[in-house]
Amino acid sequence: MRLIIGLETHLQLRSKSKLFCSCPTDKYLEAPPNSLVCPVCSGQPGSKPRGINEEALRNALRIAVALNCKIRAGEPVYFQRKNYFYPDLPSGYQRTSTPVGVGGELAGVRIRDVHIEEDPGRYDLRSGRVDYNRSGIPLIEVVTEPDIKSPEQARQYLEELQGVLNYLNAAREEPGSERVDANLSYEGHSRIEVKNINSFKGVFTALTYEAARQKTLVEKGIEFVQETRHFDEAQGTTLGLRKKETVSDYRYFPDPDVPPLVISGKMVEEMRKGIPELPAAKRKRLVKQYGLAEQDAFAISLEPEFVDAFEHVAKEVEARKAAFFMLGVLRKQLNYRGLRLKNSEILPRHVVELVKMVSAGEVTDKVAEQMLVVFLDKGIPADIRRHAQEAGLLGVKAGKELEDAVEKAVKENEKAVKDYLGGNEKALHFLAGRIMALTKGRAAPEEVHRLLKKKLGK
Ligand SMILES: [Zn+2]
Repeated sequence: MRLIIGLETHLQLRSKSKLFCSCPTDKYLEAPPNSLVCPVCSGQPGSKPRGINEEALRNALRIAVALNCKIRAGEPVYFQRKNYFYPDLPSGYQRTSTPVGVGGELAGVRIRDVHIEEDPGRYDLRSGRVDYNRSGIPLIEVVTEPDIKSPEQARQYLEELQGVLNYLNAAREEPGSERVDANLSYEGHSRIEVKNINSFKGVFTALTYEAARQKTLVEKGIEFVQETRHFDEAQGTTLGLRKKETVSDYRYFPDPDVPPLVISGKMVEEMRKGIPELPAAKRKRLVKQYGLAEQDAFAISLEPEFVDAFEHVAKEVEARKAAFFMLGVLRKQLNYRGLRLKNSEILPRHVVELVKMVSAGEVTDKVAEQMLVVFLDKGIPADIRRHAQEAGLLGVKAGKELEDAVEKAVKENEKAVKDYLGGNEKALHFLAGRIMALTKGRAAPEEVHRLLKKKLGK
């Protein structure tokens, strides 16, 4: 059975004010409810929208161009009213544009169209309260063709999209600024739309659940109808909401209050020139220039500040070692704290010092990681090397401390020694582990093994 998936991704565009009024958008999540509203974005009778927000339009175009869309310069883009009733929509309709870009492509998935919309407010089902601070914040919706064949491929597409967005600085980054609706069906069966996926991460969970649910129904011969389902993030499941609306249910018609918009060829050209080297191109270059594996190049390429730091580090130390450290311990410790490199205090020169110390055998990987943890949690010392020296972190290569540790481990673990001498290789690893613990991870593993074998006469 062939799985067919299409995604509609809504992204809040960066702009100081809302799409059709001058209400500010900054910190709208933290502001007291309904404190960032005016008659326009709260849908009061008689209020008229201002002309479209130029900053939002430019950011939408930037994204459309970066997704390889064709921009219809010179042709009018209309804002339409999409009519539906829900408490988050005070006017009873959402303004949504005809496509600003069509026929794009990203990560092997065709982009059908890209258009601009205004965000509705937020409605809390439980309390019944509405907050219109979000109402009117500009959105871009990126609609793919149904080219995606698995939840895994959907994840790859969204990773690539996130990568592109990281470079453009055109979309907002708060929680909930990226929302996805997914259409999914098995060939020949009804199409289900899953709504309310409020993060890119949730998409994989929602699709995996929904694909398995439909597969079971199909295999049992149970027919199901086209419907909209709601993703429950806490449970990782989807729930039936309503029969799917068709386009005609929304009674689209051009908004008489918003004049059509004409994008000039000059503006498109300007956008095109302003697009930086994007992740896909960057990746190819990293493989060629630094001899990195494709997978490492991919992982490095998704955040511009991470690539920049890598290229800086790779000037000073061997590129593969830089990649190994940055994608290993650095990425792990950043992820653990929910940080991006740009939001941490770690600078390329700090990474250079750590990688240099590891390469020279002055500290072990483990100690370098411990040092990084200290940097992230307590701040970075002015002189990293001196800090390591004073904290007694520099490697124990040979000498009395290591010999004492070997002595102690052998003395305290007679059974392991016996087992090893009796031919059990695993026992040696156990003894080495004891020595690592005694030296607080500062001893180089090869040296520990060498000394142990020497001591035990093998
Ligand atoms: Zn307003």
